[in-house]
Amino acid sequence: MNITNSPTEKKSFDKQTLYIKRDDLLSAEFSGNKARKFYYFLEKDFPKVKKVLSYGSSQSNAMYSLSVLAKIKGWKYNYYVDHLSSYLEENPHGNYKYSLENGMKIHVGRDLPFPTKDELLIEEGGRQKEAEYGIDLLAKEILEWKEEQEIDELNVFLPSGTGTTTLFLAKSFSVGMPPSRPTVYTVPCVGDAEYLKKQFLMLEENEDFHPKILTPSKKRHFGKLYRESYNIWLKLREEMGIEFDLLYDPHGWLTLLENPEILKTPTLYIHQGGLIGNESMLARYQRKYSENI
Ligand SMILES: *Cc1c(COP(=O)(O)O)cnc(C)c1O
Repeated sequence: MNITNSPTEKKSFDKQTLYIKRDDLLSAEFSGNKARKFYYFLEKDFPKVKKVLSYGSSQSNAMYSLSVLAKIKGWKYNYYVDHLSSYLEENPHGNYKYSLENGMKIHVGRDLPFPTKDELLIEEGGRQKEAEYGIDLLAKEILEWKEEQEIDELNVFLPSGTGTTTLFLAKSFSVGMPPSRPTVYTVPCVGDAEYLKKQFLMLEENEDFHPKILTPSKKRHFGKLYRESYNIWLKLREEMGIEFDLLYDPHGWLTLLENPEILKTPTLYIHQGGLIGNESMLARYQRKYSENI
């Protein structure tokens, strides 16, 4: 499966020109930043591994991408959640439904067994050092494109959850790079700037390699529904013809637009996929704002 070299498109949004790196188009099933993070596991051979274990929320994009990986690799897949709503259990949809279809076994309770020799443990959201392998390739693709386009100064923006993608991207750009390396900006979608900084430090002690963290003017809770988030999601789709994710991207775009000085320099927004998750997010938006959607 070739899941590298996604296209980059020049688009116009809100009267500004920017570039979109379409990692949502890497492949139909295995795409977005989870495909980048799990690329190492896709590429390498693990002759001993028979089962993959992971944990997190019951609608996570990482949970789904791991189900695709497990299927490709012929691994069993056990996933642990703290809690599973009876609604979801009775009406499987979104990432949860497709993960089950790929053979995922769900366990309620966080008592993850200690992995045996034939089991591979993947941290929540893919926050682990192996992610660096696939994200290095993403960085290389961006640098090649930048050179082709003869863009000297480039800003790169992407919203963060665990911050793994952003951190390894900024690090890739920094190591052994000339001064014209891209500047990476991000915004925390889970927790605040302080939380994100801690996540960065867990993966990389050298702060010179850390991305720049933007502080949003409004605090938005992860997974909560906001009318302005839905509105910008619609506007993005209308003006650019691109469907973004509903969990991270609206907060990302709203924050990016609050920082017009960034957009004065050519800016690349990384579309990190997550579109299967939109099924459950849209259903929630419809239930909440049904009178107006
Ligand atoms: C997982 C995910 C993120 C967050 O990635 P991190 O590496 O955890 O920061 C952002 N956007 C989408 C669409 C995702 O699926």
